[in-house]
Amino acid sequence: MCGIVGYVGKSKCVPKIISGLESLEYRGYDSAGIAYVTNESIKIKKEQGRIKVLKDSLNMNEESYMGIGHTRWATHGKPCKVNSHPHQVGDITIVHNGIIENYEELKNNLKEYKFKSETDSEVVAALIDKLYHEDKDIIKVLSKLKDYLIGSYALGILVNGDDNIYAIRKDSPLIIGISEDGNFIASDVPAILEYTNMYYLLLNDEFALISKDDVVIYDKNGEISTKSLMTFEGSKEAAMKNGYDHYMLKEIYEQPKVVMETIKEYILDYKHLKERMKGLEKYDAIDIVGCGSAYHVGLVGKSLIMKYGKVPVYVDIASEYRYTEHIYSKKHLIILISQSGETADTLAVLREAKQQGIDTLAIVNVVGSSIAREAHKVLYIKAGPEIAVATTKAYLCQLMMLSLIALYLGINKGTLDKKIINEYDNMDLLLEKELENKKELEDIAKLIYKNKDIFYLGRKIDYSLCMEASLKLKEVSYLHSEAYAAGELKHGTISLIEDKTPVISIITDDDIRLKTLSNVKEVCARGALSIIISNEDVLDKSLYTKLIKIPKVHELIGSALVMVKCQLIAYYVARLNGCDIDKPRNLAKSVTVE
Ligand code: GLU
Repeated sequence: MCGIVGYVGKSKCVPKIISGLESLEYRGYDSAGIAYVTNESIKIKKEQGRIKVLKDSLNMNEESYMGIGHTRWATHGKPCKVNSHPHQVGDITIVHNGIIENYEELKNNLKEYKFKSETDSEVVAALIDKLYHEDKDIIKVLSKLKDYLIGSYALGILVNGDDNIYAIRKDSPLIIGISEDGNFIASDVPAILEYTNMYYLLLNDEFALISKDDVVIYDKNGEISTKSLMTFEGSKEAAMKNGYDHYMLKEIYEQPKVVMETIKEYILDYKHLKERMKGLEKYDAIDIVGCGSAYHVGLVGKSLIMKYGKVPVYVDIASEYRYTEHIYSKKHLIILISQSGETADTLAVLREAKQQGIDTLAIVNVVGSSIAREAHKVLYIKAGPEIAVATTKAYLCQLMMLSLIALYLGINKGTLDKKIINEYDNMDLLLEKELENKKELEDIAKLIYKNKDIFYLGRKIDYSLCMEASLKLKEVSYLHSEAYAAGELKHGTISLIEDKTPVISIITDDDIRLKTLSNVKEVCARGALSIIISNEDVLDKSLYTKLIKIPKVHELIGSALVMVKCQLIAYYVARLNGCDIDKPRNLAKSVTVE
């Protein structure tokens, strides 16, 4: 998330920094800013919104040969001009990517500074300024910065009266680009590819001094280190996809990381969970509203919240909900789910609910979006920018968020023990493991991609997962697919099953395992090509052509393991059919019209 670009060299820096930031737009951002050095001073310009707005406010021909730029994805403080980067405190100007977890504690020890923004980043600028005035040596300051900061950071730093850019990183990416004409810092390779494909990769706790004709890299002990120069062979587009053929695939593989980030944000322990979810226990009725995948995830949430939270939950599609009569209880909550936070129908439901005096809670990915701003309470997922139109990682993070709500309510109602929190500890490893065996899913795709109809079958939560799995397939592969509640089969759809019709059954719920298996038997009897995704072995081998086995874990987290398999099936089917996977025809990423 967010982008950093810096340049020092023989050319004017402003155009280089702006075009670099434009190349990082894919990472997502809500505001942009730049600091550049002129004869008189360090000048700072920043704007909320698109890079274009910043660009229009700048003199692109400025006589400046050194500067740092930033696109911000707000984490601490709303997206607005004053919270945008760069931040200047005393002699220090910085751009920051990441999150400083102990910023409040640091701020308390920096009482002599007056802060203008709500960001964690400005605190870092003040800290560096303080240390710089104590030590009078920026290299010394950078070598000990890690002892002060907890969290993630990539920093680009300018020091008043100094001709160099300084950079340091931990857990947020940063590279140093090398060219004849000058040197760069950047969050990612696409930002420099117009000028050079040679770069150094800065590792955790390493820092660097970048001047117009030299780069000095220091290891974590502050010793000068020699590094090998890397060369990127490939297009800008390829660089943005980080080696994956499509954004959808890249985003599928980002899931272990972003799901874990979402979990960590809300549960370090029960106390933390309680702090983040406080108040949700007071409601005696919950409506969940969303569109497309957000509606489907709501259905999973409904099962979990009703089962463990013991609260009645009603789920609806936003474009239906807004035109339907509702009966609200005195303690009613409406949960609105939207990746972009701008989905028109969901936003309309939110506004109407507020007018009627109903409490609203948003589950949103994009910080500062309309739904996030207008809801009474917002729980942000940490999916990061999602570029592929078909959602994968945002859906999974939403799923986790609803699971956490069910967990909190369940602990509160005494249906779940606090120890269940530990189940989430290894979620990233579990997902990584499930994503490892892509070959089995590619093989399944090869079996089914030529069919014109593909059915998904399941009951209860498994049925809700089927709906999302089926939608994914439709979106990216253009094949007709339907999700069917297994018990409903006899009431209609079974007439469509003919020889070799693919039927993918999801069976993870012990209570109804045998019931669903009976339905699988029924479709097999009509010649279906049966594929089963299950957390148990299926003893009767005649019931499937392929069995995808997932681990048996707690129901609160099991759905995520199923879904990554379904996402990969959809991806490979679309790929075999030669579809435009990242931008399926007729679809848009953020549906801001009704
Ligand atoms: N935490 C910082 C902020 O909210 C940096 C966010 C980013 O990486 O863009 O300003």
